[in-house]
Amino acid sequence: LFVEPSLARGEPLALDRDQSNYLGAVLRMPTGGEVIVFNGRDGAWLARIANPNKKAVVLELIEQAAPQSPPSDLWYGFAPLKSARLDYVVQKATEMGAGAIQPVITRFTQVHRINAEKLRANVIEAAEQCEVLTVPEVMADIALDKLVASWDPARALVFADEGQASASPIEALRALAGRPVGLLVGPEGGFAPEEREKLLAQAFTVPISLGPRILRADTAAVAALAVIQATIGDWR
Ligand code: SAM
Repeated sequence: LFVEPSLARGEPLALDRDQSNYLGAVLRMPTGGEVIVFNGRDGAWLARIANPNKKAVVLELIEQAAPQSPPSDLWYGFAPLKSARLDYVVQKATEMGAGAIQPVITRFTQVHRINAEKLRANVIEAAEQCEVLTVPEVMADIALDKLVASWDPARALVFADEGQASASPIEALRALAGRPVGLLVGPEGGFAPEEREKLLAQAFTVPISLGPRILRADTAAVAALAVIQATIGDWR
């Protein structure tokens, strides 16, 4: 379970109404029932139910079950997609180890109103389900031009683009080992020609192709994250 407060041995931890309902009414966990909690800062903790009240469960923190994993410096930027596909890419980026999740508004982006709270709830749910202890930061949306203008050139900006048919990702990514990386995936309509030109004109950008077929934006995101992880990520 994801919780906000700091975690320390012996401390009581009051859960919010939804979590209390989930443990108390849905799972019907009794006093002494064990759960793992994390807050993105203090690792994973074993906790026991001290008070099983269905509206306000109180946990007692027993011991740290796993240390905090270091923050990921993989930045993931994407043109927001429509509802279910947006939920999907945010979940997958969390599972695949992104440290920051940033909506980027491009010329052909169709979705301009982004519910940051919903994105954050999705991130937390994915982190809970996949035991990702470092919860990625959900950042406010930014226009592509502004993003390019404010980009730290020490970080490589890898952008997936179906227009770069010859840009095999493996060698290009391997050359980035040790350097912080951002991944940018375009909208349903792809990058506009002037956006592609602008991206290509920057010294910090690295275009990659994900093969000769046009992938859906959500598929491209998962494929690109997998290639990044397999070439320069935290593969074990
Ligand atoms: N119309 C489809 C959709 O609704 O998802 C396809 C959209 S595709 C143009 C969206 C984005 O996915 C592109 O801007 C690019 O970032 C990425 N993409 C898709 N196919 C790709 C490929 N073969 N290589 C690299 N990137 C790709």
